[in-house]
Amino acid sequence: MVRKPYGPNPDDYFTVAGCLYPERVDYLAFKIDRLFKNNPRLEGLYWDENYSLPCRDTNHKNCAYLTEDGSLHEGAQLYAMRELDKRAQSIMQMYGKPFPRLLVHNTDLVPAVYAFGDINLVGERGTGKLDFIDYWGLPRIENACAGAWGINIMWTPQWEQAATGGGSNTIANNRSMLAALKLFDVNIWENYCLPKILSKFRATENRFGIAESDALFRGYWQKENNQAVAGLPVFVKSSFFVRPGKGALIYISNLDKAKQTVPVKLDFDRWQINKFKVIDAETGLAIKLDQRTVVLGIDGHDFRNLLIEQLP
Ligand SMILES: [Zn+2]
Repeated sequence: MVRKPYGPNPDDYFTVAGCLYPERVDYLAFKIDRLFKNNPRLEGLYWDENYSLPCRDTNHKNCAYLTEDGSLHEGAQLYAMRELDKRAQSIMQMYGKPFPRLLVHNTDLVPAVYAFGDINLVGERGTGKLDFIDYWGLPRIENACAGAWGINIMWTPQWEQAATGGGSNTIANNRSMLAALKLFDVNIWENYCLPKILSKFRATENRFGIAESDALFRGYWQKENNQAVAGLPVFVKSSFFVRPGKGALIYISNLDKAKQTVPVKLDFDRWQINKFKVIDAETGLAIKLDQRTVVLGIDGHDFRNLLIEQLP
């Protein structure tokens, strides 16, 4: 399709990250409604670059403003993005579209603005010469992924993506990324990475049933988690999925650069898992259990993936 930024046909216009003055929000809502009306099989929207840019157009309501010295300043219709998301959600719900419907993309997240999105795509940064954990550091990932403010998170890796200063797409880098991100309940997009490594763990998670209705996620920052997986040194963190009476799928990550050998005490009584075996999910081999403790060697910036199975 050839687009030209003039003429009477509305489909000839293409705008990215423009100023969202009220009439444009109205127009976009009209176009979204028509899009779903004309494409019954369409299930949702992905919005790239969805934010309102600062604008100096004095014809727009609430954009540019003058200060006492007579100089013109730009203003951004930040909350117009929220209004547009809200109207898009309403339209999709009106047409009975299934959850999740609205995938928004803004790495520098302003929670209140994106409150009507179902999923936010984050992480679009290369790590240059550093590996994933050295670049991101835990507090920054917590900010993006710990989910304290609600929206679901999807992460886009960027190895070998020149525009964002990608970094080498090695097994070690990919595993460093997984060591950090598997501590959170996030979906990792299999692009600019080694998809084979990612899909191996996704397959394990699906076999375990992380999306089943009885599956729970407990992050390392939660009290119930700390009681279930105990004895970890400060730079080793663990998060897990658990299905009461059935089993648990645990990630234990070494955020330190040096290899560590860690005795891990497991207690899943709270979820009616009291007689169990422990399997290394990557190799399928059983791990020796002493009472309720397993001793794990974990490489630097790497992780172990354990499957706990309740015995009959
Ligand atoms: Zn404007």
